[in-house]
Amino acid sequence: MTSTAQQEISVSSSSGTRPVSKDAIINLDHGDPTMFESFWMGVGEAADITIPSWRTLSYFSDVTNFCWFLQPEFAHEARRLHYLVGNAVADDRFLVIGTGSTQLFQAALFALSPSDAPEPMSVVSAVPYYSSFPRITDYLRSGLYRWRGDASKFEGDAYIEVVCSPNNPDGSIREAVLKSGNGKTIHDLAYYWPQYTPITGAADHDIMLFTVSKLSGHAGTRLGWALVKDVEVAKKMVKFIELNTIGVSKDSQLRAAIILKAISDGYERPDLQTKPDLKMFEFGRRLLSMRWQKLREAVKASGIFTLPHFESVHCKFTGETTEACPAFAWLKCEREGTQDCADLFKKHKILVRSGGHFGVESNYARVSMVDRDETFDLFIERLMSLR
Ligand code: PMP
Repeated sequence: MTSTAQQEISVSSSSGTRPVSKDAIINLDHGDPTMFESFWMGVGEAADITIPSWRTLSYFSDVTNFCWFLQPEFAHEARRLHYLVGNAVADDRFLVIGTGSTQLFQAALFALSPSDAPEPMSVVSAVPYYSSFPRITDYLRSGLYRWRGDASKFEGDAYIEVVCSPNNPDGSIREAVLKSGNGKTIHDLAYYWPQYTPITGAADHDIMLFTVSKLSGHAGTRLGWALVKDVEVAKKMVKFIELNTIGVSKDSQLRAAIILKAISDGYERPDLQTKPDLKMFEFGRRLLSMRWQKLREAVKASGIFTLPHFESVHCKFTGETTEACPAFAWLKCEREGTQDCADLFKKHKILVRSGGHFGVESNYARVSMVDRDETFDLFIERLMSLR
């Protein structure tokens, strides 16, 4: 295993936990979306679910559907939410469910790569790209596809371009950079929700990936979904999931259906809620915009780093003109003589992800903005003292 791969999969003793003291390790390496915990505590019973022991025994969910392991309740709530938010065309699209969008990304690579090609299909994405794309593409050394790095540097007309928008790590809004008629695209829209970015229209790409991890914070439920235009591609994705895990946890799908229902009900059925302020996107946006403000102040005070700038744009969902509040901060270290930004943070017991993982120089680093308040506040405090 390469040293990069070793670092990538490292789960440390500080992963997923709260810092226990002022000088504890602050782990903002992963995008662990625990900031939503307080929202769901407020929702309470409305989003709880009890699954009787006799339910969900069968492998099968709906054999009349091409995606036979898809729970109809989930498909209904996913389409309802897309319609409410207006972020993607979901009607008349084939919905494939996956164990996180991580599994769907692999299913899409499988579906888009011809099985009889002499060479593996090239998989590319413009830098800085989400650090998992190269790892997932190459870890089994598939004969079907191979990671070829930065899309902007790719020459050739047969490829799969992965477009992540808003982009992880830098929050930018993206379009495909390659335009060949032979090329295919996978759009990872994990962050195209109103808490992170203004919704400018309903996305309508060939394959669009979404996940509850970033929508509602339920990363542990391990559930994602794909909206797919072409039925043959959708069927091949289903075949991959059939061979890979014989379907997707029904328990997770039922739980996620309740979660999505609670989000939509917060807007469409406020009478069902016991507490008035249960609009999830507003909760997320309020918290993230406060955090971005604190971060920008701390970064300015430090004089060491810079952050990307985001233009204000009209959001069709909220009706407001706002800046993006991405789930990650993409910091550039401007201090002369400091080449490794993540290393600088590490000296101050802050774990972040270095630019190298995203295909760029190590003077960049990615910091999660979606952890719990205690962790984020401690991070800002420490950042202020960083010289
Ligand atoms: N795509 C992007 C862009 C992500 O940032 C993440 C999570 N970090 C994922 C996919 C993975 O999502 P899931 O938890 O559904 O596998």
